[in-house]
Amino acid sequence: MDVQALSDRYGEEKTPFSFEIIPVGYDMDPETRVKVEVAVSKIHEILGSRLGLKFRRDPSFTIRIFKDKESYAGYREGPPLAGLASGYYSPARNEAVTWRHHNFEKMLEVITHEANHALIHHRLGEVPPWLNEGLSEYFERMEVFGQAVVIHPNEQWDQVVKQKVRDGSIKPLRDYLGLSQQGWQIHNFRTNDAYAQAWSLIHFLMSTPDGTRLLGHLINTLDRVGAQAFSGAATLDADYEGGLDALETRWLAWVLGPKRSHYY
Ligand SMILES: [Zn+2]
Repeated sequence: MDVQALSDRYGEEKTPFSFEIIPVGYDMDPETRVKVEVAVSKIHEILGSRLGLKFRRDPSFTIRIFKDKESYAGYREGPPLAGLASGYYSPARNEAVTWRHHNFEKMLEVITHEANHALIHHRLGEVPPWLNEGLSEYFERMEVFGQAVVIHPNEQWDQVVKQKVRDGSIKPLRDYLGLSQQGWQIHNFRTNDAYAQAWSLIHFLMSTPDGTRLLGHLINTLDRVGAQAFSGAATLDADYEGGLDALETRWLAWVLGPKRSHYY
């Protein structure tokens, strides 16, 4: 699609963004293709103009969509356990891979989730899992209306986090933000608690202009200092009034309150 035209309209993002959608073993109808294009372009736009993550090069990648789960699982270029997941992003091949699923909404969930991983990988490389997965979980709740999108709260994750806050078992943000990839896997084991908390934190931050600016600041600090030196907790303690503790208090209050959808 002509992403440049979209960019010109928003007047901020000038670097072109091209990506290729490859349906494998079936013909994708034009309406579906346009919706996928709008959704993925919108992620690029939100990362760029809302969160200040400027793309200096075209972060192009491929989205390969198989006709069914069997052909997806049998894709020779995929990782060995790909069949256990609903989709994945392969940095080596720079492609997001999934299959048609039983309905468009489920397919779009996977594509938006993996498209965020592709863009984050292109622009930042390795990033803390709470940030990478939180953004992906946030974007996968996207619904497309023409050239606009709505990002809904994730009701399931919302209930999980609410329950853990109520019974006092939620992981304190200071521990959570510092989780390594391995720590994340352990925390997430069987329960998906790590994903639920990541979604909650990102949806919370994206709910207000101040929160969005703060998330942008965290991302740009990470970009400046590099993943090895970056600490979300240290950045918040230094640059947020009241530090991480104040942010945690606000987040916990938000968790127990109503959630709203975001319009872009
Ligand atoms: Zn993911």
